Amino acid sequence: MTETTVRDVVIIGSGPAGLTAAIYTARANLRPLVFEGAPSSTGDQPGGQLMLTTEVENYPGFVDGIQGPELMTAMRAQAARFGAEFVTEKISKVDLSSSPGRVWVGETEYQGRAVVVATGARAKMLGLDAERRLLGHGVSTCATCDGFFFKGQEIAVVGGGDSALEEANFLTKFADKVYVIHRRDALRASKIMQERSFKNDKIEFLWDSVPVELHGESRLAGATLENVKTGERSELGVTGLFVAIGHHPNTSLFMGQLAMDDASYLLTHHGTHLNVEGVFAAGDVQDRTYRQAITAAGSGCMAAIDAERWLESQPHASAISETPTQW
Ligand code: FAD
Ligand code: NAP
Repeated sequence: MTETTVRDVVIIGSGPAGLTAAIYTARANLRPLVFEGAPSSTGDQPGGQLMLTTEVENYPGFVDGIQGPELMTAMRAQAARFGAEFVTEKISKVDLSSSPGRVWVGETEYQGRAVVVATGARAKMLGLDAERRLLGHGVSTCATCDGFFFKGQEIAVVGGGDSALEEANFLTKFADKVYVIHRRDALRASKIMQERSFKNDKIEFLWDSVPVELHGESRLAGATLENVKTGERSELGVTGLFVAIGHHPNTSLFMGQLAMDDASYLLTHHGTHLNVEGVFAAGDVQDRTYRQAITAAGSGCMAAIDAERWLESQPHASAISETPTQW
């Protein structure tokens, strides 16, 4: 019989939230075990969403910016330096109904007295062939992150909700022209966002349309659009395409166990606490508003501190290192 590993802290996810929680809990001598996910071509992979991008210019501390993968590699090394351990696998099942929390990779079970959920979120994508290849190379899911790179250019946003219009308006600060490509002839966005967008001279709406092909080898060089009513195709010579058709938090693993809102984001209270004692959430998995690397890292720090304080308050606290923590 194999013995189940029981750790003080188990962290699920290795984006900015999970790795910051790992740095803090490792420095608190809590020997975190980080399940960093498994390699894939989506945002759901070790290092998280920033592994899919190039330049990150808004993460504090890097005057000239830093490449996304370089930032995540450094965060991982920093956590490892303080003793965090990594399992390069995806958690396939959890049982958080009792303490310690139980998590599985296939048939192998691990237990954590405290569990930090930092499984992030994924932008919904259009499903076009070249979309993943050109992500970070003209195709983006984050105007706040990438808008700056499109100064003086003609670009497009796909979607008809508040996110699409918010991104379109934001992008007019940089781009000369922003097309909003929407699959219907009526917007889903709130009236106020619609009015603001209709008044913006730099925004032009392309109704009843969807991108069906993206062009360019190493960078986006244009898109073919199809009118969904007439079937007519046309070319749009844009150098940027922002896909803003919604996000999915990575929470399917926790359905029926952790409280979620109507869009399946985890519901935190008093900082990063969840509805189950000893389970904490950080990053995009519980954030439908900001979704930035720095906010994810910030909440990872909060989850680590909340987890450490919660562990200290438990009867088994003597098992935990008594070395005072210096944050
Ligand atoms: P994520 O980064 O989404 O990481 C989630 C982690 O959970 C991954 O490691 C994944 O493998 C793991 N995981 C998921 N399911 C499981 C499971 N079952 N078991 C184990 N592990 C699991 N933000 C900025 O501030 N600046 C930018 O310039 C910027 N650029 C971006 C560019 C792109 C292309 C994208 C997609 C996003 C960008 N963002 C940017 C947003 C930023 O990447 C996210 O806000 C941030 O990564 C969220 O961090 P997170 O730790 O919450 O989750
Ligand atoms: P959303 O409201 O679900 O809108 C998604 C949009 O993308 C819809 O217009 C949808 O078209 C379109 N779409 C979905 N799948 C598509 C596909 N495969 N191809 C082409 N188009 C597709 O998502 P959201 O805009 O991200 O907003 C999510 C929530 O956050 C909303 O409640 C929103 O109000 C809120 N939010 C608020 C603000 C704000 O108040 N400033 C800002 C951002 C988000 P259809 O309309 O045809 O379905």
